[in-house]
Amino acid sequence: MNVQTNLPIDMSKLEKLAEVSVKVGLDLAEGQDLIITAPLEAQPLTRLIARHAYRAGAGIVTTLFSDPEATLERFENGRDGSFDAAPAWLYEGMGKAYANGAARLAIVGEDPMLLSGQDADKVSRANRANSQAYKPAGEKISNFDINWNIISYPTLAWAKRVFPGDTEPMAVAKLAKAIFAASRVAESDPVAAWAAHNANLAARSAFLNGKRFAALHFTGPGTDLTVGLADEHEWHGGASPAKNGIVCNPNIPTEEVFTTPHRLRVEGHVSATKPLSHQGTLIDEIRVQFEKGKIIHAAASKGGDVLNRVLDTDEGARHLGEVALVPHSSPISQSGILFYNTLFDENASCHIALGQCYSKCFLNGASLSKDEIAAKGGNSSFIHIDWMIGSDKVDIDGIDANGDATPVMRGGEWAD
Ligand code: ZN
Ligand code: ZN
Repeated sequence: MNVQTNLPIDMSKLEKLAEVSVKVGLDLAEGQDLIITAPLEAQPLTRLIARHAYRAGAGIVTTLFSDPEATLERFENGRDGSFDAAPAWLYEGMGKAYANGAARLAIVGEDPMLLSGQDADKVSRANRANSQAYKPAGEKISNFDINWNIISYPTLAWAKRVFPGDTEPMAVAKLAKAIFAASRVAESDPVAAWAAHNANLAARSAFLNGKRFAALHFTGPGTDLTVGLADEHEWHGGASPAKNGIVCNPNIPTEEVFTTPHRLRVEGHVSATKPLSHQGTLIDEIRVQFEKGKIIHAAASKGGDVLNRVLDTDEGARHLGEVALVPHSSPISQSGILFYNTLFDENASCHIALGQCYSKCFLNGASLSKDEIAAKGGNSSFIHIDWMIGSDKVDIDGIDANGDATPVMRGGEWAD
């Protein structure tokens, strides 16, 4: 195979990342089709994934590339009426492929600030149209009908954001190294390293499931927040079985254990501990106030207008769909790197997510209807946006049904 050799990226580790994605991230089944989305620049990785997918017995591997330059052309030259439209035909096709058993791999790595100079109204209209058109297909992912995986590729534009003081090749080399370390492909046997990591996350989830807390209470600088948990919520972390029976690791990297909050039982105020990079805009120093589960006030030192537009996406956008715990000593947190990418940054810190909940985070979640999930407190929305609220200054107590508190985290680390 012809791979680029002039890249400042360790190709043997890139190949290990491809192998981990196919064997651990997806656990692709014999004969299973695979749909990949990727930025154009990630071609060296998509080719290696195709190699490992076909070696694993894949059916047909289809890669859909996105071109950031073409996206900019749209915002700079597209007619105004076009920003309320989305390629529904494509998403319908993806939905059909999932329904027919295909697996899904997203390779991320676009410039996190790609759209930062564009008209915020056009950006939010385009995002909304896209979210709506993708929802039927996206629900097959959020309901975990199929095995899916997200990994990342160190594009030049992203690397320059993360390491602005370095030369271009050095920035790419550093980002590649950070991605490989966080994705555990720097280990001699990455597949075995993932098995051990998954066992740790499963033990944490089992501990929290045994406690059956009614709520989590977060306290720290600018934060006094009680997150009620959904009735019959279930904690998950690391590998878990999709409804098609395949045990996969959706996020690579992942350090979190997470569950579903009750959409009407969140009270108090919370301050973000890291900036949120949301579809091209950096939203910094978010502070929000909850009442009966709903965000009644939201502000940010930067990007507040974008934040408030996001909150107006739909009814569920002002309610929580996820709460996740990550120790401050996680490798991504210790790297000290702000990736401007949720896949990494959410794994550096405890976080909450606005919007859609995961149905798998309920007891017998796979068999629950939408109405049953809503009745237990699960939230529904076009969006799911994680933002970081943990640090070494945040304490968390688990509150049981009688109101008694048990330390869960102290100074950002597991209390036990
Ligand atoms: Zn999460
Ligand atoms: Zn999330």
